[in-house]
Amino acid sequence: MEIPFADLRPMHDEIRHELDSAYKKVMDNSWFIQGTELEAFEKEFATYVGVKHCIGVATGLDALYLILKAYGIGAGNEVIVPSNTFIATALAVSYAGATPVFVEPEIETFNIDTSRIEAAITSETKAIMAVQLQGRCCDMDEINRIAKKHGLKVIEDAAQAHGAKYKGKKAGALGDAAGFSFYPGKNLGALGDGGCVTTNDDDLAAKVRALGNYGSDYKYHHIYKGTNSRLDEMQAAFLRVKLPHLDKWNDARRKIAARYLAEIKNPLIQLPLPTSDEYEHIYHVFVIRCEKRDELEEYLAENGIHTVKHYPIPMHMQGAYADLQIAEGVLPNAEEISRSVLSIPMYYGMTEEQVTYVIEKLNDFAE
Ligand SMILES: *Cc1c(COP(=O)(O)O)cnc(C)c1O
Repeated sequence: MEIPFADLRPMHDEIRHELDSAYKKVMDNSWFIQGTELEAFEKEFATYVGVKHCIGVATGLDALYLILKAYGIGAGNEVIVPSNTFIATALAVSYAGATPVFVEPEIETFNIDTSRIEAAITSETKAIMAVQLQGRCCDMDEINRIAKKHGLKVIEDAAQAHGAKYKGKKAGALGDAAGFSFYPGKNLGALGDGGCVTTNDDDLAAKVRALGNYGSDYKYHHIYKGTNSRLDEMQAAFLRVKLPHLDKWNDARRKIAARYLAEIKNPLIQLPLPTSDEYEHIYHVFVIRCEKRDELEEYLAENGIHTVKHYPIPMHMQGAYADLQIAEGVLPNAEEISRSVLSIPMYYGMTEEQVTYVIEKLNDFAE
């Protein structure tokens, strides 16, 4: 049996007709940037998340970068970033001109270890990037408490957390502002690149909107040296088709996760945490850990099961961050995670038979 790591086709096949109509609607309107589809999607997504504002932008990276810019965070400033995340979280900080300061994750949750944040705060620290990694939220009460005490902004990187909840509130509504990505493989994905910022902060919303549109508050009137980062009408129309299905797709992922958690029983394999009332997980990825990770990866590949490593090289060991001069061994949890993680197949439309096959092969893995 051949099982892809992810497959967008079962999801798109079910709504193909609606997607075709959305394409046709935009073509018929013949208006492609900043029109009625974007305006409607922004309202619908803000309502879904439970915030006042949603601003469509070009990518998840831009969403995070524009929030930092709008808060005036830049040269000389520091931003707390978990040492285990996709590199975009740190790159947003670097693009803004500030310096990412890495704080170790807890190996169990993969998210930032809040007990280590305060030690990393200096007089230059301006914000904490709360990455809701894999679709499970961080301990947001604790992060918000620390931020308030030190006068810092809390910026959620919710790129993997569309629909995830913390104590009943959705990711995107848990800090001062949040960045989402609509990269096709995310739980809510466009048919191309896309992203948005969500916030309850009126001033920030206005500033992000202007910064992403050449720094313009109205046509040909420029108040900031902005950039061009917009969510186009076609992607907004596709996202409007997909948003009403998101909860169903997330439920399907939780069902697959529940079977993996109940039925994978191999002492060589550590499983991620289950979803709970406090931390409602959306399993953007299902990440297992194994000391013999590379052997496991090869064994699964031989059996037709495709996997991905999230992420194989920690940021401080990437050439891009050689300038920070963080030696190997300084961030042991991030390194341990990168050495041991493997993401197994997880997507809407995976059949019971396919899930059973993955479980059987994992249970048969031996040293
Ligand atoms: C995908 C992702 C991003 C970046 O989103 P893009 O739309 O690809 O720019 C940022 N942070 C995390 C955690 C992500 O998974």
